[in-house]
Amino acid sequence: MSPANVTVYRLSPACDISDVEVGTIYVGRVQGFATFGTFVQLTDRLKGLVHKSNVRTNHEEGDEILVRVKQVRPNGNIDLEEVILPSYEEQSVIKKVTTTRLADLGSRIGRPVTVVGEIAQVKQTSGPTIFTLVDDSGTENAAAFVEAGVRAYPEANLGDMVQVNGQAMQRNSQVQVEVSSLTVLAGPEADEVRARIEEALERRAEPAEIPLLVESDVMTLLRPQMREVAKAIRKAVFVSQPILLRHHADADGICSAVAIEQAVVSLIRESGGDFDADYFLFKRAPSKAPFYEIEDITRDLDFATKDLARYGQKMPLVLLTDNGSTEEDEPAMKQARVFGLKLIVVDHHHPDALIDQYLVAHVNPYHVGGDYGITAGMLGTEIARLINPAVGDAIRHLPAVAAVGDRSEAPERQRFLDLVADRYSEDECKAMALALDFEQFWLRFNDGREIVKEILDLGPDHERHEKFVGLLVEGANQMIADQLEATMPHVQERLLENGAHLFLLDVEIHAHKFTFPPPGKTSGEVHDRLCKANPGAAVVTIGFGPDFAVLRSRGVLMNIPRMVRELRTEITGGGVSGGGHLVVGSIKFVEGMREAVIEALIAKIAQAELATPKLE
Ligand code: MN
Repeated sequence: MSPANVTVYRLSPACDISDVEVGTIYVGRVQGFATFGTFVQLTDRLKGLVHKSNVRTNHEEGDEILVRVKQVRPNGNIDLEEVILPSYEEQSVIKKVTTTRLADLGSRIGRPVTVVGEIAQVKQTSGPTIFTLVDDSGTENAAAFVEAGVRAYPEANLGDMVQVNGQAMQRNSQVQVEVSSLTVLAGPEADEVRARIEEALERRAEPAEIPLLVESDVMTLLRPQMREVAKAIRKAVFVSQPILLRHHADADGICSAVAIEQAVVSLIRESGGDFDADYFLFKRAPSKAPFYEIEDITRDLDFATKDLARYGQKMPLVLLTDNGSTEEDEPAMKQARVFGLKLIVVDHHHPDALIDQYLVAHVNPYHVGGDYGITAGMLGTEIARLINPAVGDAIRHLPAVAAVGDRSEAPERQRFLDLVADRYSEDECKAMALALDFEQFWLRFNDGREIVKEILDLGPDHERHEKFVGLLVEGANQMIADQLEATMPHVQERLLENGAHLFLLDVEIHAHKFTFPPPGKTSGEVHDRLCKANPGAAVVTIGFGPDFAVLRSRGVLMNIPRMVRELRTEITGGGVSGGGHLVVGSIKFVEGMREAVIEALIAKIAQAELATPKLE
């Protein structure tokens, strides 16, 4: 045998004495010296002795040396001798054990088990340390106890691959492993486990092949991107990564978010883990602005970094719906990127391409020649069905509510209404949309998870839903009527050069403040009335306050984000910012420049082309 063919072995950290073979040469590490010889570690937990008569060279602590196993004594002591080889091949010894898949723990209650997986969370309780483990089959907890409130296995951290020996136990309704030993895997052993889990996750996360709820050319073209988003979300659920869903706080945004919430929450419950995992692994947060504001990202980073420090939770996957695709989102996204947050956008606002560098996925009808008529609620519902088809039936009316809420004029609007006509009339969908807007106003920054479900008839009691929505709609309509009664007489009309009718309204002094309907909705309601009063005409309504203006339009081909950008450079000291949809949006400025900004804005609107007039 030529020396080059000699094989030496390196034991992986999970190996124990049963893996040590007499006569085999191993790579060891010098641990310390005694008068009778040198202690050599074969793994962190496994060491042997090279008697001084078998030491061949001088060493220092920590040196790697080659040792042959002379014998393993009945008491577990290992006798070694040092070996010098001019050349050799090295191989790893990977511990082969029969492991139990986490999904199968329930069938082994009370019995010893070995599980292998990735640490998805480390939570220190006043008793044991709880490790949330993920493998290719699911997720479960492992409880390790050294002393009350003391962190067990401090060498094991978030993201590590570990092998856990212990007993499968049932606590309340939950299965967990009570840990007797936990080893952090390293090298090829960890790589193998990681690769196996990753491969299985890829397969498990692949969304089902299901048809769209209604015929839609635009959404058919968006299928690949929608599948990509659904897959990323499924994967996050399977590895116990928290999901934070930020959405615009209007009916469309809420519908998109609630659809996905239903899918994600039920998927979290199905895939094991803590009984209240759906509460700390999924958060829904409404955003006042139709973009990711600095205030929002600040709050999100505050919570995410605290959850990581305090509960050992992974940083969240952030999903933005009905917002997130315009350049106004960039400052927040820059902050998110610093912390390595992965961002996904599902939006129907006109997208700015520069945003895509911050995103791992982006669904937007404009990418495939569609427009805002395909609302976020339609997209969110279709994505929710891909995440978890089981919720498909419960949420199939949400696109219709979103469509009427966002005044979609796409053909899909009617198709989604037809889809649920047996359960809800168009008026009932409109009632739900208005009730959502009304309730969200009072909820402010709260998600109102259960109340919002009640409004969308996702609760347990259909009759109670009807009563509640009826009451909210009555309240909303009364307040809108009061507002318009005060406001309409103050609306001023101008006929623009391009033939459009412009209506101006000072919502600061001619509308009630700090109540429902807020300025944006007030302007929208006024606009709707004026559109009815001017059938077939191009109509633009501007509701303005001291330092903002809200725009609504019909029949005018405007591009509000572009007008805002132009005004920002054209009006020195105007402090102009804003955006929104092409023909519906808002703009901010400094109070002292209001007249200059609004007049310049009107001049731009007067130059916009009119859409082909159509009869109402
Ligand atoms: Mn929308």
